[in-house]
Amino acid sequence: MAKSLPEYNFQPATLDFLKDSPKLLFINNEWVKASSGKTFETVNPATGQVLAEVALAGESDVDQAVAAAKAAFPAWSQTIAADRAILLFKLADLIEQHADALAELETLDNGKPIRVARRGDLPYVTKHLRYQAGWADKIEGSTVPVTFPNQFVYTRREPLGVVGAIIPWNFPLLMAIWKLGPALAAGNTLVLKPAEQTPLTALYLAGLVRETGFPPGVVNVLTGPGEPTGAAMAKHMDIAKIAFTGSTAVGAKIMEAAAKSNLKRVSLELGGKSPNVIFADADLAAAVRGAQWAVFSTAGQECVAGSRLFVERPVYAQVLAGLKENVEKMVVNHGFAEKVHVGPLINETQLERVATYIKEGKQAGAELITGGERLGDSFKDGYFLKPAVFASQDDTLKLVQEEIFGPVAAVTAFDSYDELIERANSTQYGLAAGVWTRDIGKAHRYAHAVQAGTVWINGYGMIDPAAPFGGYKMSGFGREMGKEAIDLYTQVKTVWVNTQ
Ligand code: NDP
Repeated sequence: MAKSLPEYNFQPATLDFLKDSPKLLFINNEWVKASSGKTFETVNPATGQVLAEVALAGESDVDQAVAAAKAAFPAWSQTIAADRAILLFKLADLIEQHADALAELETLDNGKPIRVARRGDLPYVTKHLRYQAGWADKIEGSTVPVTFPNQFVYTRREPLGVVGAIIPWNFPLLMAIWKLGPALAAGNTLVLKPAEQTPLTALYLAGLVRETGFPPGVVNVLTGPGEPTGAAMAKHMDIAKIAFTGSTAVGAKIMEAAAKSNLKRVSLELGGKSPNVIFADADLAAAVRGAQWAVFSTAGQECVAGSRLFVERPVYAQVLAGLKENVEKMVVNHGFAEKVHVGPLINETQLERVATYIKEGKQAGAELITGGERLGDSFKDGYFLKPAVFASQDDTLKLVQEEIFGPVAAVTAFDSYDELIERANSTQYGLAAGVWTRDIGKAHRYAHAVQAGTVWINGYGMIDPAAPFGGYKMSGFGREMGKEAIDLYTQVKTVWVNTQ
């Protein structure tokens, strides 16, 4: 049981869920203890208090979960696709029925404002799951006009087998569904590892999976840290694919483990340092508001955070002043508070990491315009940081080059379009980009020239289940969402038929 919860009128389902501690692993539709008996604590980042003890899966637990998923694969992959879809739709309905409890658990475990969890994360979760469920019975092959006579050639898109999903802590349930939806729709079985910081909603989801009536082994949930749990999955010989979202450094480790084991397929949605651009002809009020939320929503802990803001010189001072004014009005607070724009960072380590970027940025000559200090008093046991805005013309600073994953914006002025493109493309990342202008031709030129998997024109941060999403360069590869997501979880078989 949680040692202490914030004052809030919690759903009975939330309280019931937290009563059972330690939380167990979900393998073959059963709740099981970790074979080592080890557990770890998951903590409320707003208060530093323990929410639950959670089973820590070791290598033998990974073996057990993968064996269950492998055993379930033949029947699941041969289930009529429309019947797989029915189960996925039913799961979406159950998630919707439990949305309030799931939103509360997300806010407790991750710290995000409850309004965001309830109106953002949860509706997205069901929307994404239903979209992917709809693909289950629309996965088609093609006929191929080959050069040989009397040969009928066609392709089939077949599932891969056991998929391992390793996900981060910023959108715990949504990330789980981004992987679960297309993996299961395409006929794969799943072993899911949520981030150790935010395991609760994945475990709640596992209960709903069982209630839905998925056959045992189709979905398994293993809680534990990157080492040993995630690493054991990445090198497992019976996992056919790892679908990963997280840092570029860990993405590289997963590729290495895949190469050294069974050449499993890998899709990587990694970090970013996304350029957001304001031209002088933009609707400046909208652009400043857009830029503010582009970097500070989810306390900056978003892979697409528009953390490098480029402003055309004639409006630079005006934009910087407007941004400062807006940011200083943002309320940093507990996720369950009545008024909150920015919640805590995920843990002490992340807070210290971000604080180091701020300190080193100042030392290296970037000008701190506002924010950047840790909140004390009633906030001192949580991991709260005031949103920070830096002004800097030096693109070589770590602050400007590296993914901070916290509430820190780096604002800079540019003079020409060519200079802008060169500088916007000057990091190792290429996940997303934004541009604000009334010149639609210029907006499209920028959208084509910028090296990023997603570009928003006069907006920022929209994600939709139908719109492919993924990175260029070291932001990873593979596209989630859209039909492309199904491609990630299937392989093509070509069949030759001699018709003579
Ligand atoms: P990680 O990349 O370390 O974590 C992402 C997931 O990978 C977690 O489930 C983690 O487990 C797991 N993992 C960690 N090490 C291994 C491994 N060797 N083999 C297999 N799986 C592993 O991100 P962090 O949580 O440490 O955050 C660090 C930085 O990563 C952030 O500051 C940010 O820059 C970036 N990041 C980017 C994200 C994005 O959406 N692009 C999301 C999250 C982080 P566990 O956490 O349980 O140890």
